[in-house]
Amino acid sequence: MDDVLARLEQLRGDDLPVHSGRTLAYVYDSGMPELDRLAAAAVGAFAATNGLDPTAFPSLLRMENDLVAFGLRLLTAPEGAVGTVTSGGTESVLLAVQGARDAFPHVSRPSMVVPDTVHAAFHKAAHYFGVEARVVPTGSDFRADVATTAAACDESTVLVVGSAPSYAHGVVDPITDLAALAAERGIRCHVDACIGGWVLPYAARLGRAVPAWDFAVPGVTSISVDLHKYGYAPKGASLLLHRDSAVRRPQLFAWADWPGYTMLNSTMQSTRSGGPVAGAWAVLQQVGDAGYERLSDQALRATDAVVAAVEAQPALRVVAAPDSTLVAFTTDETCDPFTLVDEMTERGWYVQPQMRFRDQPATVHVSVSAATLAHVEGFTAALAESVAAAVQAGPVQVDPEVAAVVGLLDPATLDDAAFDGLLAAAGLVSESADADGLSLPTRRAEINALLDLAAPPLREAVMRAFLDRLSRPTPP
Ligand SMILES: *Cc1c(COP(=O)(O)O)cnc(C)c1O
Repeated sequence: MDDVLARLEQLRGDDLPVHSGRTLAYVYDSGMPELDRLAAAAVGAFAATNGLDPTAFPSLLRMENDLVAFGLRLLTAPEGAVGTVTSGGTESVLLAVQGARDAFPHVSRPSMVVPDTVHAAFHKAAHYFGVEARVVPTGSDFRADVATTAAACDESTVLVVGSAPSYAHGVVDPITDLAALAAERGIRCHVDACIGGWVLPYAARLGRAVPAWDFAVPGVTSISVDLHKYGYAPKGASLLLHRDSAVRRPQLFAWADWPGYTMLNSTMQSTRSGGPVAGAWAVLQQVGDAGYERLSDQALRATDAVVAAVEAQPALRVVAAPDSTLVAFTTDETCDPFTLVDEMTERGWYVQPQMRFRDQPATVHVSVSAATLAHVEGFTAALAESVAAAVQAGPVQVDPEVAAVVGLLDPATLDDAAFDGLLAAAGLVSESADADGLSLPTRRAEINALLDLAAPPLREAVMRAFLDRLSRPTPP
């Protein structure tokens, strides 16, 4: 057994660190090692329990109701509000869209109006549930445009969405106005607070300026907020909160017309592990309201320091003053953004490249955790060194012929062999690779620069082909 655990530990050696305060995407680090031990013990203790039947495992029902109650209080929900624990932000978003669709059964071709900054999960929901996503361009402040949103609504519209804040730029949409226009039309307004919902209430309490965005805003019908982000819970837990039980009703699924047990589910999953529920519950008990205020203060002060570090670099510019703990910045022509990301990686800092979008250049994204506060001097130094190294290296050159080809390719016309060629050309698959034929270079500036030139449909197709080749059974 020890041998198996040792092999797991070895496998994990290739992963990004989850508790260094230096991985500034994907993971949210409280900086409290004892909290991680507690969470791991709770997940382990409940890993085999099943949320499928709340009467069979009343412990899970109790923990879910505790988690929802805490979330509702935090987000100033009125009496009568309810909620559901889901497996993550994407599931919360999918259910919000499904619920809106099914609340208006007479609408045969339902649509939702979303800002162009909305999380990709809403496009996944559109794809899964046949709801048209009407995408409204955001203004120069990267916030949803209220007049254009109103103009995009018609009789088919069942849902208006705003983010608090958006993932890419970290700013809060004008929720009061979006919710008002939804209420006027008798339709739903979902606030996607997956990433900011556990920080913004504390930011306001700490005296920072936070625009109104939660259930205190009339017309907001549901909110998604992830426990596994700034709730610092282990992965696999999010909340979908509803203003009242009528809003939630279309989400509840029951099926009696088969020879098995009567199926009764509140989420997309049926069998679902109690592990993440217990993990989130344990973390919530341990941290508590005062603890979250302290962790939010740390994350927000670390964010201020990250902004200052970026602004101290003449080659960098913060895209929008952050409303919570997410920072996006651009580079000028002297500093290649993708080389900068590689240089940060080499110094042990993971920051996330975001490709160009419409007329906006590529950006670098940083999600700041509480644990980052202890390392802001290291971040500032690494950023300064990385900018200098990227400027020194000069811009990444994409062969103009390759660039021209990329501009002309239509993903719909490409076959498997063409994708093999493209992946090889991009350096994502190489002959010198492992047995599985894949190579994942640590320096990715050239790949990113090439992908950055591709239009989104081609980028998506290449990445799907890449994922297809990544996901192959391990050779014996
Ligand atoms: C993370 C995130 C999601 C999706 O959540 P997952 O937990 O990754 O499935 C949705 N919306 C926003 C704004 C997010 O940041």
